[in-house]
Amino acid sequence: MGADFDRPLVGRFEHLLQRDLQKAENEVSGLHSINMGKSKQIGNHNSTRKKSIGKTWKTKRYTKHLDEIHADMKPSNAAKLLKQEVDHDVTGSAQHYCLHCARYFVDAKALKEHFRTKLHKKRIKLLKEEPYSHAEAERAAGMGSYVAHKTVEVKTQTIEEDMD
Ligand SMILES: [Zn+2]
Repeated sequence: MGADFDRPLVGRFEHLLQRDLQKAENEVSGLHSINMGKSKQIGNHNSTRKKSIGKTWKTKRYTKHLDEIHADMKPSNAAKLLKQEVDHDVTGSAQHYCLHCARYFVDAKALKEHFRTKLHKKRIKLLKEEPYSHAEAERAAGMGSYVAHKTVEVKTQTIEEDMD
């Protein structure tokens, strides 16, 4: 009977030992991290994280890089973009496109309304301020004749007033 009584006691003792060992290990590793790092407080400074969120939000707004828009603004490209084939997978069947914002609109009314928005006006301003595009630079280099850096005329495209 004595042997049966001793067993669980030993088991309990072993369990306690295990727990103490775990506790001691945790304490040692805890001491380690305190000694290794300069401060006990880790990762409570989120200023850098906040900054990166702002950045991603900003880049998300631009569907195309300004350089690409400048390339799109070249008459030959612009003509193609403004007279696209009917594509039913695209908003407004690709018939109402804002060249400067690289966005499609459902109809002429929506496009016209878009031209009045702050976003579009800001975009036009940005395009005016940054006229020297990659495409322009490549063209100048390839042709050997450097065309002086000039500000481009950026105008909101005109739309035919044939609204019934
Ligand atoms: Zn626009």
